[in-house]
Amino acid sequence: MKNNEMLYLDYQATTPVDPRVLEAMAPYSSELFGNPHSSDHCAGWEASRAIEEAAADVAGLIGADPDEVIFTSGATEANNLALLGLARRGATGRRKRILISKIEHKSILTVARILQEQLGYIVELLPVNNCGELAPSALDEALSDDVLLVSIMAVNNEIGTIQNITKFSEIIKIHGDVIFHCDAAQAPCAMELTTMACLVDLISLSGHKMYGPKGIGALYVRRDLQDMVEPIIYGGEQQNGLRAGTIPTPLCVGLGSAARLLAGNAGRMERDALHKLNVHFTKELAKLPWPNQVNGPLDIRRHPGNMNVCFKGFSAIEILGALQPKLAASTGAACTSGISEPSHVLSAIGLNKEDLDASIRFSFGRFTTKKCIDKAISLLREALARSNR
Ligand code: PMP
Repeated sequence: MKNNEMLYLDYQATTPVDPRVLEAMAPYSSELFGNPHSSDHCAGWEASRAIEEAAADVAGLIGADPDEVIFTSGATEANNLALLGLARRGATGRRKRILISKIEHKSILTVARILQEQLGYIVELLPVNNCGELAPSALDEALSDDVLLVSIMAVNNEIGTIQNITKFSEIIKIHGDVIFHCDAAQAPCAMELTTMACLVDLISLSGHKMYGPKGIGALYVRRDLQDMVEPIIYGGEQQNGLRAGTIPTPLCVGLGSAARLLAGNAGRMERDALHKLNVHFTKELAKLPWPNQVNGPLDIRRHPGNMNVCFKGFSAIEILGALQPKLAASTGAACTSGISEPSHVLSAIGLNKEDLDASIRFSFGRFTTKKCIDKAISLLREALARSNR
């Protein structure tokens, strides 16, 4: 069975590349293959111009300027560059505390642990409520003049919680020189981002979560903070000296094109459509004869394409197995699946082991229709009926 015959409800793990994105990328792997750093000929100039345009499109999505966009291999690298880069430069200073939420992606949690073990930082994991929200008051109380960095994700990858970045930004600004980083890998399909660069100092993005290609992402670094970030990849002076290596033109063009497709009204309409599908899915789930409960927020504070459901008393792994090869959804973050470690996100919102093992994330996207949702419900119904409780 090909992927396009499977009912794909795992858009938060990865999105298909939009055909318009693929089309925009194609010439940069064929006739326009020049090295964007070749400054002596027009093949290089053409590639360099395409990269500038792509940076402008990415910047446009988040309200930044093109020279503040550093292309990386993905959000994992962007998160590493943000945290490691700032912490290495700040290692000799008096700001020794780093605040992150308990439900950050592994690429933040793991780097934060390294900063603690190798550079002597004190990392504090801020708790969240049962919807996955960090209380602004908890952030306020934890802040003081020994904090170097706060890193809070915009949208959670498992339960879709949208954090109150505007409020956090206000609080952080009151506390002065604390740097605010936001992992926004899951945000482009979930929320309006046009003011993000005014609120946050560094922002991580990922191509393959927004209908762009895999292997590309970006870190927005506010212009006046760029000399506070130590590179993690050394070599040439590409990208303001912050990330050495030949910039991959086709991938950047893909990311830029993906960003353009999600900007403005088109993005808004897409989010509205996802919200409608989600309401429909939730209603249909409630009609199932087996008890199930939604994990995470039930309102607009949630990624409109995310639904995380606990099928009480069932095994999520068994249900998903029974659904193969017809429907793709997941037990948690793709990056951690395969490792039999319970979801730190579901634990942080208070689920017990049994409920945690019974929870499935469904995530919808650009190519999901109401018919797909109805089909998913009918497949789920069959799988649940067949499953041993
Ligand atoms: N942060 C979040 C919130 C994510 O969901 C992901 C992808 N699962 C990442 C970071 C890592 O992104 P990438 O795959 O581009 O490295």
